[in-house]
Amino acid sequence: LKERYTQDLSLPTITTDGERIALQLNAGLLSSLESDIATGADGVGLYRTEIPFMLQQRFPSESEQIKVYKQVFEAAAGKSVVMRTLDVGGDKPLAYFPINEENPFLGWRGIRLSLDHPELFLVQLRAMLQAAEGSDQLSIMLPMVSCIDEIEQSLAYLEQAYFELSTEMGMDIVKPRVGIMLEVPVLLYQLPDVARKVDFISVGSNDLTQYLLAVDRNNPRVSTLYDCYHPGILRALKQVREECKTLNLPVSVCGELAGEPIGVLLLVSMGYSHLSMNQGSLGRINYLLRRVSFEDLNNLLNKVLRLSSGQEVRVLLAEYLETIG
Ligand code: PEP
Ligand code: MG
Repeated sequence: LKERYTQDLSLPTITTDGERIALQLNAGLLSSLESDIATGADGVGLYRTEIPFMLQQRFPSESEQIKVYKQVFEAAAGKSVVMRTLDVGGDKPLAYFPINEENPFLGWRGIRLSLDHPELFLVQLRAMLQAAEGSDQLSIMLPMVSCIDEIEQSLAYLEQAYFELSTEMGMDIVKPRVGIMLEVPVLLYQLPDVARKVDFISVGSNDLTQYLLAVDRNNPRVSTLYDCYHPGILRALKQVREECKTLNLPVSVCGELAGEPIGVLLLVSMGYSHLSMNQGSLGRINYLLRRVSFEDLNNLLNKVLRLSSGQEVRVLLAEYLETIG
């Protein structure tokens, strides 16, 4: 079966009624990146920069970061790469930068940490800009944004990094597209403000689910409550898709949901056309989407939206999956 999926990956992801879905790669390690992109991913939708940071004994220097990011661009061979700025804290510790907090998921995480340490943030931004070497491959994505002010501050640092490299040092630097992760629920209510500031958003369904449900994504005691198919979560995702369409704001999904067969069917039915997933999901998701019609998925969504529990959603979708084979 695995072989069948792999072969399938060389074919473009198009539903039986002609909807093209872009399948992008979530990455953080370089191993296998090259072959994955070569075998058909539509670029890297999420490059988690904290992973190379976690593998070191100290903060990597600017030149060390340039070296790592360059390899990512090379592996992507001209395709676009969405690089996320450092997303440590919460479930992603850095051994050489211990953070002890009572509520780490509500504490010093992601962009909050970068904005409190501009010296680290600027080094990372400068490294990303230089590694892109004047190509237009780079998009920069900010994690854990919870207010517009964080976007404004980040954009100011990016402007500073750009000025230092291009004006002061005379380098050929292309301004990247800038986006944010949509993973803190309050921004569901501020999408028009977000759209005025950034070029795109990507839904981080892992954290968005955790924060909407108030359920720790890694605590086994409450893991049955951590349910991405909770009807409230699905309604939020549908609303985001519709609002982004109205706002003309490009949106993708890069949480685990975008790599699960049931999740993908639901997301595509809502109109999401850019899904970023782990390498292991690419083949089977391509296989699946080439066998469904957008029209059938729409009918399915109408049924799903009448259900009141995640379990019912799963059962209905599992039945539908059976019919595809
Ligand atoms: C997410 O939160 O959905 C996400 C993609 O980011 P991470 O899993 O790295 O927090
Ligand atoms: Mg996240």
